[in-house]
Amino acid sequence: MQEEKQFVMKCCICGREKTDRGWEYRFRADEQNILCSHGFCAPCYETEIMKIRLQTTLATVPLYR
Ligand SMILES: [Zn+2]
Repeated sequence: MQEEKQFVMKCCICGREKTDRGWEYRFRADEQNILCSHGFCAPCYETEIMKIRLQTTLATVPLYR
């Protein structure tokens, strides 16, 4: 039996999956049958961008060097 692996995009921060309806938490019993690609969901992406911006800003303040 040939098994077709399903391709799933998962957020590497919160673990939500990208679905037709957006990012959702899902429990999978067939975890070994999927191909995972890790990325950021919209909220986590925003958070990461803010963290990077904050770090960049703090790096320019002598106190935090
Ligand atoms: Zn996320």
